[in-house]
Amino acid sequence: MACGEFELIERFFKNRQKQRSDVVLPIGDDCALLAPRAEQLLAVSTDTLVSGVHFFPDIVPHALGYKSLAINLSDLAAMGATPRWVSLALTLPSVDEAWLEQFSAGFFEAADYYDIQLIGGDVTKGPLSITLTVQGEVTKGQQLTRRGANVGDWICVTGNLGDSALGLQSLAGKVDLPPGDRDSVIKKHYYPIPRLLAGQALKGVATAAIDLSDGLASDVAHIAAASGCKAIIDIDSLPLSNALLANTTPEQGVKLGLGGGEDYELCFTVPPAALGTLDTLLAHTGASFHCVGQIHNGSGVEFVQNNKTAVIDIKGFSHF
Ligand code: ADP
Ligand code: MG
Repeated sequence: MACGEFELIERFFKNRQKQRSDVVLPIGDDCALLAPRAEQLLAVSTDTLVSGVHFFPDIVPHALGYKSLAINLSDLAAMGATPRWVSLALTLPSVDEAWLEQFSAGFFEAADYYDIQLIGGDVTKGPLSITLTVQGEVTKGQQLTRRGANVGDWICVTGNLGDSALGLQSLAGKVDLPPGDRDSVIKKHYYPIPRLLAGQALKGVATAAIDLSDGLASDVAHIAAASGCKAIIDIDSLPLSNALLANTTPEQGVKLGLGGGEDYELCFTVPPAALGTLDTLLAHTGASFHCVGQIHNGSGVEFVQNNKTAVIDIKGFSHF
């Protein structure tokens, strides 16, 4: 950006947060310098949000700032990692100060709440897009991955499924919802809660975990593939909110719950003996959980409804 790049960084992104003690050199030099702890693994994840692809161009900038960080934090949650540092590559069509004011307020609201420090980034001119790289730490050996599920494990999810997708439909004008339901599903779409505490509580208990970005049907397939087994999902057990149930047919509700995407809940597997401990383990995390299926021999994902195999035409979101 020819004009105003440094002023922009200075004004909207630098010195907006309390300095973490593990940030040796913050924003302002060629690199940030960070001091990871001994015996910790760095968990690193990048996501890009492109205007017109991942969000409507007229999205409330506060929501965009919050959500772009929250969905990256969700990846850290799925690994059982604790958030530490984030960098932000911002491509802007122009410098709109009111927009940047709100975007950065939303971003730092999430950053301060989840104790992650912005340590650098880049600003370029072009079609609006946001790329974040988050880094967290997880003690060696305690990380959650997609690959440890065993035959017999229960498959669980936090929260409810499908609300975010219903929120998106509402924003797109495809459904007309009563105001209370509309607000609650749009909030779920714009302000997802990264399940960081749940991810940390599941360390040592869950055998595999993933965060639900594309939809349960497609995301649980990643656990099955990485773990070399089959996931069977019980349609009747899907946790669907009252807002979703009240405004969709049963078939629509199931489709949104399985394939709507952007739930940013966790899906995890636990051995049968650990199922009874989840209530206590997750009690302090603010996350409800439901058991939605079980791991079997084989490969891929199957669905059952009323104890019978169900054929459901569902695909998670895929760009290509
Ligand atoms: P360089 O040209 O050496 O890559 P820049 O001029 O792009 O450095 O950035 C100057 C400093 O500002 C760097 O420390 C960089 O990490 C930081 N920075 C740039 N853009 C952002 C941003 N959007 N948010 C936070 N820090 C940023
Ligand atoms: Mg640069």
